[in-house]
Amino acid sequence: MKLLERFLKYVKINTMSDDNSGLTPSTQNQWDLAHILVDELKTLGLSDAFVNDKCTVFATLPKNDDGFETIGLLAHMDTIPEVSGKNVDPKVIDNYDGGIIDLGHGAFLNPDEFPILKTKVSHQLVTTSGNTVLGADDKAGIAIIMTALEDIITNNIKHGEIKVAFTPDEEIGTGIMSFDTSKFKVDYAYTVDGGDFREFSYENFNASSAKVTIKGFEIHPGGAKNKMINASKVAMEFDSLLPVQMAPEYTDRYDGFNHLTSIKGETGHASMHYILRNHDLTILNRQKNDFINAMNFINAKYGAGTCIVELEDSYRNMREVIEKDMRSVNKALAAYKKLGLEVNIDPIRGGTDGARLTFMGINTPNLATGGYNCHGIHEYADMYEMEKMVEVVKTILTDK
Ligand SMILES: [Zn+2]
Repeated sequence: MKLLERFLKYVKINTMSDDNSGLTPSTQNQWDLAHILVDELKTLGLSDAFVNDKCTVFATLPKNDDGFETIGLLAHMDTIPEVSGKNVDPKVIDNYDGGIIDLGHGAFLNPDEFPILKTKVSHQLVTTSGNTVLGADDKAGIAIIMTALEDIITNNIKHGEIKVAFTPDEEIGTGIMSFDTSKFKVDYAYTVDGGDFREFSYENFNASSAKVTIKGFEIHPGGAKNKMINASKVAMEFDSLLPVQMAPEYTDRYDGFNHLTSIKGETGHASMHYILRNHDLTILNRQKNDFINAMNFINAKYGAGTCIVELEDSYRNMREVIEKDMRSVNKALAAYKKLGLEVNIDPIRGGTDGARLTFMGINTPNLATGGYNCHGIHEYADMYEMEKMVEVVKTILTDK
């Protein structure tokens, strides 16, 4: 099957995840793609392919030569809960002319709004019909992996043992939690997921969160003089004590941030939720300190117990682990070089399943796919870049 044909087949299958379900997989529809992938893997000759009770697909391509490392490849099957992934009706644009693309449903892909489109003249693009995501995130990754395997098998190219896994619920962060590493014994692995094909990533944010609770003093406003403490106003004051420039809207690349994700308040009580992010753990700890300092200031001003800050750590930057064994990084960079492709090391401004896996003992940097504008109706895929990523993956798998 050709790359495009495969990709179009996958994006038409609804695999939306659901962050309210509490189950893995979070939705039954993810099984549909999982079963199709198991069948396709078996047809390709990965005879042990199966899907486990958590909806993770595993398969092995046994080695046909010695002296290779065992490499794992992963991509996720689900699409985001927030934007529809139902009835995706992909449009194929051959030979893109550099103009405005009318997606339908009143939506347009405009190069003035998305300037990178200007570099894609003459490429074959796949877009949405303006009312759903495309699901290139991450069905582009699945299609790239499947096509690379097929090419290696049909051309009988020498390779080591290759392990493949397709996972559910990446978009809601839960699928990887039940990943069975005993079914994935590899030297290292790659997620193939999202973005400009020149971007290779082995570092991501360290992540923490802060829950801030403010207790006010409620009294009839007519008799409030020198008595009332308005919790909502104290909450605003708390936020003003944090570094102004450390909000996501002012940050890029290696800048960290504190992001106020929600605020609720009345006179008597207010609460706020923040996420804290930084690639550098030392600076993240300083950010956490800013929250403690702000709490202490508020409590000194309004009385002990007015403000409570609860900090919690979540995922960590995989770089600190990967740096101890750079085989995965060197292998990928060598593949780009061999193919004469430009590559940039790009810091991921979020977390990845690969970061989780790295801390579970499998170094897992990320390879891009050539999918753009993920998580919205302007999502599209550049088939030229997807074809190049098939070559990158094949080179990684077949070079000693
Ligand atoms: Zn993704």
